[in-house]
Amino acid sequence: AKDEGRNNCQFYSSTFTHQAEKRLNLENGLRNALLQNQFFLVYQPQMDIATGKFLSVEALIRWQHPAQGFISPLDFIPLAEENGLIIPIGEWALRTACAEAMEWLKKGFNIRVSVNLSPLQFKNPDLVKSVMGILSETGFPPSNLVLEVTESALMDYNAEILNTINTLRSHNIEISLDDFGTGYSSMNYLMHLPINNIKVDKSFVDGMLDDGKSLAIIRSIISLSKNLNFTVTAEGIELLEQANVLKKLGCDYLQGYYFSKPVRSGEVTDFLRKQHPI
Ligand code: C2E
Ligand code: CA
Ligand code: CA
Ligand code: CA
Repeated sequence: AKDEGRNNCQFYSSTFTHQAEKRLNLENGLRNALLQNQFFLVYQPQMDIATGKFLSVEALIRWQHPAQGFISPLDFIPLAEENGLIIPIGEWALRTACAEAMEWLKKGFNIRVSVNLSPLQFKNPDLVKSVMGILSETGFPPSNLVLEVTESALMDYNAEILNTINTLRSHNIEISLDDFGTGYSSMNYLMHLPINNIKVDKSFVDGMLDDGKSLAIIRSIISLSKNLNFTVTAEGIELLEQANVLKKLGCDYLQGYYFSKPVRSGEVTDFLRKQHPI
C-alpha cells in the first residue's frame, strides 16, 4: 500500500510536469508564431435578415503550428491573455483584417468587418492610437470596422474605458458587445456606454428550440436591444428553424454554420455575391 501511494504520487507529479512542459512549449511556440507567419484569419459571413445579403463578416484567428498542426483559439487566446502576447497578436489580427477587407472594398463590395478585441487590448491606453494607425496604414474606412468586445472587458468600466469607446465612436467605428448574457451582464453599462450591437451568445441559440428558458432570454435580449436602439446579431445558427424564429423575434443579423463556416480570405468575395434569404 505504501508503494502504491508513492507510485500515485509519482504519477501525479509526472503528469503535472508533462502539463507544465506542454504549456511552456505552447508559450514558446506562440512567441515564434507571429515571427514565422503561422497565424491566418478566416471570415464568417453575417446575414442581414432585412436584405438576405451578407453585409459583414467576423474575422477569426487560426494558428497552424508546424509540428502540432491546428491549434484552436480557445486554447491559445487565454494563454496569450495571461502573458500579454495578445497585444501584438491582436494588432496583427486587426491589421490583417483591415488589409484583406480593403481588397474586397476595392473590388466594389461594401463590406464591414468585425474584429475581436480581448479585454486586455481594450484596457490598453494605446488602443485608440493603434487602431487609428492601422486604419490609416491600410486605408480601411473606420465606418466599415466593428470591434467586438466581451462583457468582461466592460465590467467595472471607468472613465478611461468610456473615453476609449467615445473616441472610437467619434471616428464612426462600431462597438459590438460579444457573448452577451454569458458574463456579468449589467444594465448599468448598457445604459452608459455608446455601443451599437449586441451578439446573442451561441449557448442560447443552441437551446432555443428545446427549452423555453433559452428562448425567453433571447426574446428579452432582443426587445431590450430594440428599446435601447442596438442592433442584434445571433451567433451559432445551425438550423433553418432557429433562423426563422430569430427573424420573427426581430433579430437583425444571423451568423452560423447554417449559412457558412468561417472561410479563407480568398473565398469571401464568392460568398458576398450570393444571397441567402430565409
Ligand atoms: P466568438 O467570438 O464567440 O466566435 C464565435 C465562435 O463560434 C467561432 O469559433 C466560430 O467559428 C464558432 N461558430 C460560429 N458559428 C457556429 C455554429 O453554427 N456552430 C458551431 N458549433 N460553432 C460556430 P472559433 O473561431 O473557434 O473562435 C473561438 C473564440 O476565440 C471566439 O469566440 C473568440 O472569443 C476567440 N477569438 C477568435 N479569434 C480571435 C481574435 O482574433 N482575437 C481575440 N481576442 N479572440 C479571438
Ligand atoms: Ca466574436
Ligand atoms: Ca461571439
Ligand atoms: Ca460565443
